[in-house]
Amino acid sequence: MQVGFIGLGAMGIGMATNLAKAKLLAGVYNRTASKAQALATELNVTAYTDIATLAADMDVLLSCVSADSDVLEVIKLIATTAKTGAIVIDMSTVSSETAKQAASLLQAKGIAFLDAPVSGGVEGAINGSLSIMVGGEASIVETVRPVLEAMSSRIIHVGEVGSGQATKAVNQVMCAGINQAVTEALMFAAAQNLPMEKVLAAVAGGAAGNWFLDKRGSTMTNGTFAPGFKLALHHKDLHICQTMAAQAGISIPLSDMTVIAYQQLMADGFGDEDISALYRLKNPKR
Ligand code: NAP
Repeated sequence: MQVGFIGLGAMGIGMATNLAKAKLLAGVYNRTASKAQALATELNVTAYTDIATLAADMDVLLSCVSADSDVLEVIKLIATTAKTGAIVIDMSTVSSETAKQAASLLQAKGIAFLDAPVSGGVEGAINGSLSIMVGGEASIVETVRPVLEAMSSRIIHVGEVGSGQATKAVNQVMCAGINQAVTEALMFAAAQNLPMEKVLAAVAGGAAGNWFLDKRGSTMTNGTFAPGFKLALHHKDLHICQTMAAQAGISIPLSDMTVIAYQQLMADGFGDEDISALYRLKNPKR
């Protein structure tokens, strides 16, 4: 099985590397070609300079790019040359609607599609411990299970195409609330002049412990916000969640206030920082 990977960003580099370690990766493509060349040399795979040529050579194509329009752009190029019977797995976070559009563009050419967004951060991508939420046909999921297993510790087949992205939207609403809670609580700790590393150690071991606190608590309180997960990307995800909530007739106020906060941070030039940069707004001494 020839596997190709498109999109070597913060997530894609770790995911592609784990595919190579499992001896599954044949080729990579990245829009900024130098990144593909560097990783291909390191992993001893082929660097492709265009998506259509990569797609023609592969049985399975994975993509992890930024937003809805990027996914559709990539899918249209794949559709021009991919083999009948090829399988495309999009691991970006986009809307269910985009996943359905991608599936129908590819179906017309006899190419199968899974939406398979991930959670677990850059650390999960590097360690091969991502949680993958998959939408699409069960038989296709089984065919590519070894590919997914190379990158993850948990694969949940949710249902039909689009259901992986809908589940990821649930995850993103939850992350907004966690970000609000953790940044606010740590600013509160700072305001009490408590020894932060001791607070982090104590809280992490109890009922309030969580992934975000473990991975970003120390860095955010030290004023470091390297991505991680760019807040402009979470902002894009929360827009999708807001649309879904409106369609369902429910409100998601924690997400709404997070969108407003991210807009302010993006306007201040912090859109490429990790989502923990929300701490900047919570900290009155910023
Ligand atoms: P990133 O570091 O910004 O990387 C984005 C990648 O997509 C880059 O390789 C970029 O190429 C490529 N790209 C963007 N638009 C493209 C286009 N139109 N055509 C071809 N390639 C394009 O983002 P990331 O953090 O890896 O996130 C990727 C996806 O995973 C996003 O949908 C994000 O929401 C999701 N996600 C991220 C995390 C996280 O913690 N970072 C966790 C879970 C899910 P260039 O190198 O040329 O810019």
